[in-house]
Amino acid sequence: MEKSKVLIVGGTGYLGKRLVKASLAEGHETYVLHRPEIGVEIEKVQMLLSFKAQGAHLVAGSFSHHQSLVDAVKLVDVVICAISGVHIRSHQILLQLKLIDAIKEAGNIKRFLPSEFGTDPARMANAIEPGRVTFDDKMVVRKAIEDAGIPFTYVSANCFAGYFLGGLCQPGQILPSRNSVILLGDGNQKAIYVDEDDIAKYTIKTIDDPRTLNKTLYLRPPENILSQREVVQIWEKLIGKELHKSSISKEEFLAPMKGLDYAEQVGLTHYYHVCFEGCLINFEIGDGGEEASILYPEIKYTKVV
Ligand code: NDP
Repeated sequence: MEKSKVLIVGGTGYLGKRLVKASLAEGHETYVLHRPEIGVEIEKVQMLLSFKAQGAHLVAGSFSHHQSLVDAVKLVDVVICAISGVHIRSHQILLQLKLIDAIKEAGNIKRFLPSEFGTDPARMANAIEPGRVTFDDKMVVRKAIEDAGIPFTYVSANCFAGYFLGGLCQPGQILPSRNSVILLGDGNQKAIYVDEDDIAKYTIKTIDDPRTLNKTLYLRPPENILSQREVVQIWEKLIGKELHKSSISKEEFLAPMKGLDYAEQVGLTHYYHVCFEGCLINFEIGDGGEEASILYPEIKYTKVV
């Protein structure tokens, strides 16, 4: 089967650059949107040039210019969007409605993967404010895709390892402490950690796979389903030292919320759902989903240990 041509939107981002790399590595003809708005952001420009040197095509297009998006979309079979969606960086999830309009008009797209790559928003109807905005906006995008009849796959990537593992599952930290750690609740709630390059590899694997058409692909690498205590134990073994442990109840965890800025509040509530409620693993994948490590065992995913 011929491999689909792919357009990656948000290609210079944290996840997007990995998607470009994975798409090229899998032999897809890869197009990367080059937005004129990046102007003189030299690092982005140089990254785009490095993509070009690796064989990607750069295609000019702007979210402020509908026809440019239509023209870009017409070049390919599959569109993957990795536009920003973490408030501490930037949150542009609803801009995708413009991309959906363009995909609808172009009429040639066999699969669209919107910027998801986290908790399954369809299971977060009861999420707390203000973090629920992430899930609500992603659901608005899903509805627009489905109303337009655009073929899709949603990738539920669970925890990016860099964010969650690095800080031993403590919000606001991405480097592990060598002295102490605060356990969220009893520290026994399981979460799922996925290396960012593996997220990109699974995503690219799925774009031509009929088994994930109009479904959600859940990334649940079995050996990376761990509690915070287990993560801490792995770290302790690595450094050969036991950390001092204290514990925080959910009430104490949420109490300082009012004193935080908006982006921090959003992050805090996301950690709450993952680490106290177990929102990533408290459900079975039903008929509407598939699990990535089962579908693509050839990907030797990076293990936490
Ligand atoms: P980034 O913050 O790195 O941004 C990605 C890209 O978004 C940018 O490079 C830029 O693309 C594009 N972008 C930003 N602002 C605008 C704008 N105003 N107009 C048009 N494009 C814009 O995104 P991430 O990689 O952090 O996030 C990607 C996805 O992954 C999101 O859906 C997010 O929610 C999810 N995520 C999940 C995490 C998890 O733990 N599960 C953790 C982090 C993210 P360019 O300049 O290249 O055109």
